[in-house]
Amino acid sequence: MTAPGASATPEELAKACAAGDRRAASRLISLLESPVARDAQAASRAAGTLPLPKQTIGLTGPPGAGKSTLLDYLVGLERALGKRVGVVAVDPSSPFTGGALLGDRIRMSSHRSDSGVFIRSMGSRGAQGGLASAASDALRVLGGAGFECVFIETVGAGQAETEVISLADTICLAQVAGLGDDIQLMKMGILEIADVFLVNKADRPGARELKEQIELALHESPGETSRTRRMLGPQLSTQLKLPVWTPPVLLVSGLDHTGGDEIVQALTRHRTYLDEPALATALRRNRIAREMVWRATRRLSDELAAQLAPGAALAALADDCAAGRISLPDAIDRLLGKHP
Ligand code: GDP
Repeated sequence: MTAPGASATPEELAKACAAGDRRAASRLISLLESPVARDAQAASRAAGTLPLPKQTIGLTGPPGAGKSTLLDYLVGLERALGKRVGVVAVDPSSPFTGGALLGDRIRMSSHRSDSGVFIRSMGSRGAQGGLASAASDALRVLGGAGFECVFIETVGAGQAETEVISLADTICLAQVAGLGDDIQLMKMGILEIADVFLVNKADRPGARELKEQIELALHESPGETSRTRRMLGPQLSTQLKLPVWTPPVLLVSGLDHTGGDEIVQALTRHRTYLDEPALATALRRNRIAREMVWRATRRLSDELAAQLAPGAALAALADDCAAGRISLPDAIDRLLGKHP
């Protein structure tokens, strides 16, 4: 098959992706991020026909935890298993660079020249339907282009990051001793998002203590700590006889390349856990349903925002509100046409 020309449609690019053309994959992802709504939507439709990668692994954690360093190591570990590996590095905080900061750091890595590795960064630039939607479509593009294992890296714990990271089958949370916010992070619910904990910088003081602290917190946690169980809900979990998943807490060093065997083992064990056929079916349905809801919500919200754009009617209601002639909730009802 010849490479698609410069004027190739998203469908042609998707076809070329499926034939393993990585430049077509790159172009299709760029279209997903297009500021031109029509182009981005067409790309999203085309990407929607491509399969998700066999394995998607999320990597998150606070800045400075060593995520980029770890990612470089993790990519090498998966490559050593013979897999073709993709990386989608997402930085929602960078509207102007398109996440270039994260991506460039990774691009500098040892895998730059490996044709079995595909690295892509995404920011909040463009991404009409929201960053998480674009990232989800990008996963399909990479899956379609034959990358079996795809990492999604993201920073922070805001709404966009949470949506992005929840696209992954397995979530690894990088933690590091001495950031002073260990307890805070746990309070914020980090215990509940991770399938695997990576206590990084094992060569530094405090790492072992942090590992023990996390293990203790997991042990003492009164709630349901398994992400899978929470995602599916208690009823379905019971119906599926979902076994307990206790997140392993691993001492690793991205810099010294230690803990790799344990990481590979934990990722394989979690993959096997998810692959139980009834569970895999339920999770696939759950993932797509969740994504449909957030995409539909986003679409409705965008449509509504366009309808509610500043105008004479809005100004008149605001004046009524300011003068105390109408309450804010009543004004909103009227704005939405829910009030006579
Ligand atoms: P990120 O912000 O989470 O992506 O963190 P980086 O990967 O950029 O790493 C932050 C700093 O920690 C860098 O200076 C790394 O060299 C250093 N670092 C990463 N992993 C290790 C490790 O295992 N041990 C030590 N001592 N330093 C590390």
